[in-house]
Amino acid sequence: MNHNLICDSCKTEFNVDDEKLLKVTEGDIEVQYFECPKCERKYIVFTTNERMRELVEKRRLLAAQIRLARSKRFRPSTINGYLKKMQKLKEEQLKLRTELAPIGQKILFGENDSKESGTENDTVEIKQTCEPERTDSQDRGPDNDNTGSP
Ligand SMILES: [Zn+2]
Repeated sequence: MNHNLICDSCKTEFNVDDEKLLKVTEGDIEVQYFECPKCERKYIVFTTNERMRELVEKRRLLAAQIRLARSKRFRPSTINGYLKKMQKLKEEQLKLRTELAPIGQKILFGENDSKESGTENDTVEIKQTCEPERTDSQDRGPDNDNTGSP
């Protein structure tokens, strides 16, 4: 990945790529972040724990399974089963992400930083390598006639 960003604090424009990502761990929690090269303000990219990493991996495997199922023309009911599973994984991931975000903040910024910044705006949304690409909206198979759900 490669992103141009403008620092909220000092308005310096800088570039973030994978090599500039930093990582801090505490127990099984892992916080990925980067720093502004000028004022060293930290920005969180992604906070994971063991379960989150497990979910990421599961999604990756399931995505591969779905691709295979589609290329081999599995029955739509089978594929739909996979898609439902994928949806469940996504939901859990989202929920977990919401839980982990404040923990990551705390690890990186400490507890007493909350007055200064206040909101969760410190977290920068970045699509990054841990997040598997979505597979369910693209490469539609020929058996996609059942768009109306049950
Ligand atoms: Zn800065």
